[in-house]
Amino acid sequence: MLTTSRRDLILSAAVAGAALGLDKSLAIAAPARGQKTPDPAKGFFRYKIGDAECTGVYDGIWEKAHDPACFSNATVAEIKQALADAGLTTAFVPIPITVFVIKLHGKLVLCDAGGGNQVQAFNPESVFVSGKMMANMRAAGIDPKKIETILISHFHPDHIFGLLEKKTNAPVFPNAEIIVPAAEYKWWTDPSLITRLPTGRRPLARRIQTAIPNWKNVLPVEGEDEVVPGIRFVSAPGHTPGHTAFHVSSGNEQLMISSDAAYVPALCAAHPGWHGVFDQNAVAAETSRRKLLDRVIADKMMICGSHFPWPGLGKIARDGAGYALTVHTS
Ligand SMILES: [Zn+2]
Repeated sequence: MLTTSRRDLILSAAVAGAALGLDKSLAIAAPARGQKTPDPAKGFFRYKIGDAECTGVYDGIWEKAHDPACFSNATVAEIKQALADAGLTTAFVPIPITVFVIKLHGKLVLCDAGGGNQVQAFNPESVFVSGKMMANMRAAGIDPKKIETILISHFHPDHIFGLLEKKTNAPVFPNAEIIVPAAEYKWWTDPSLITRLPTGRRPLARRIQTAIPNWKNVLPVEGEDEVVPGIRFVSAPGHTPGHTAFHVSSGNEQLMISSDAAYVPALCAAHPGWHGVFDQNAVAAETSRRKLLDRVIADKMMICGSHFPWPGLGKIARDGAGYALTVHTS
């Protein structure tokens, strides 16, 4: 199928770029341009959900060049219109990366780990900056060594490379318990996966398989368990086979950390039926996206996401055939 092969091609390109340093033969393009989006003046944003102290921590931004293959059923003109409708630049697709630290019941929990300054845009017209999480965490008064638990939504580079030292793959958080969705873990660590993947996607799987199964502090969890007191896994497959959101509940308040279920809300929440190349199974991703957003609206939760406009927190409402995010301003 043309759509699938195009998607694989794009994913191959992105993942090949993401895995630089491990497979130099694929390290074709370095970003030719500088970052256009200024970093936030303050790289962290703190708020309360009941008794939970939540901190959005800025990790970087992917300024993604426009690409007609970005969505199988939306044109670049439609993408630009959707960005303009949300008041965003139309020069590129702005994809900020935010991770979240939740302090609840005396436990310090990091939700995803950012790109660790190891994700590179494959397209020379794009810019990919990551790895600012550590400095911004310290600026927020959070000692990374005190992180006890890390929840991982899925194994894409911009969510897990922050767990791995750049050259050695040594664990950045050797003393934290890393809780991952079992479906995601099984898919990526299956040795037979490598040969089933398109060539360009293999370095990511190899890196995962080389490092993560050897770590003693990784705990795969099935289903929608309460993985730490007050935080529950929410299965939202499609973006990847085990893609997972995190539900925070304290008192009468709730927060849905939606991970990549609606990655750029200006595009994927406003147009939930758009099928993106970064969704491995776009039909399943759309089903998960609608289910998650409908739940957030029905239960009057706050919502945040890994690639929401900084500071990453907002409220979602129905808007015609799609959903509209009102961003919380810092
Ligand atoms: Zn992502």
